Amino acid sequence: MKQVTRNLFITLIIVLLGGMSCTEVVNDLEPYMEPVISSDSIMPIDALLIEEQDSLAEEIQDSLSLIPKKCIYLTIDDAPLNGTARIDSIVSKAKVKTNIFMVGNCIDGSGKFRKYYNLLMENSYIEIYNHSYSHANNKYATFYKDPEKVLADFEKNQLDFSIPHKIARLPGRNIWQIGEKTRNYKQSGATSAELLVKSGYKVFGWDVEWRYNAKDYTPEQTIEELINEIETLYEKSRTFSKNHVVLLMHDQMFAKKNDMNDLETLILELKEKGFSFEYLSSYPE
Ligand SMILES: [Zn+2]
Repeated sequence: MKQVTRNLFITLIIVLLGGMSCTEVVNDLEPYMEPVISSDSIMPIDALLIEEQDSLAEEIQDSLSLIPKKCIYLTIDDAPLNGTARIDSIVSKAKVKTNIFMVGNCIDGSGKFRKYYNLLMENSYIEIYNHSYSHANNKYATFYKDPEKVLADFEKNQLDFSIPHKIARLPGRNIWQIGEKTRNYKQSGATSAELLVKSGYKVFGWDVEWRYNAKDYTPEQTIEELINEIETLYEKSRTFSKNHVVLLMHDQMFAKKNDMNDLETLILELKEKGFSFEYLSSYPE
């Protein structure tokens, strides 16, 4: 028995040693394998064509992006007043981005205007900006004598009415200051603009105004005349920023529909001229 056990033990040792050496040989000399080409990695001609079309479309897209966009900014001052409800409904139907410069004391003075303020806040086509709380009580020269008071007036409006962007327009003044860039700076109000900018605001004037008669708020230019003014400014690059036209209008102009104040037609004609409607919050620096 002892001899049988000894033989079995020796056989086991030989098998184990043999096994180990086989393993070592396999590790040292890996057999050559033909590369496997899966049918998935061969691109059919159709797919090649699609890829070519895609890259052509990308090239066209790139060239189109080099053509400057014609941007128009509809800006409406002094809201909420009697024109707000119509403005709210027209821009919603036309689906165009619209910029409203709001005056807070109108809201505090009237339940109707507070409702209009809520309409504006809820309208996804409208962005609200700051046109001061008091509108200088329409005494501009006095107002601008004290820039600190002007800043406080704007800050009150900003906080009381949760205005999300620090974008301001001075009452009664076409003054621009965006960073270092300024326009129409030699008039009272310039120091206030500077202080607002130091406090984080961008101060916007306008490139063109749809003017109105002070007695009945009827527009002075026909839509055709206004479009011509806008096109000329655009073509001759007479705007504060090239390719960007800021149009000023006033809330009260749209209180009642008349022959002159057809905002829907103005929007349609601007669309036909290739203008894209933008928010001042995306105006270039
Ligand atoms: Zn105003």
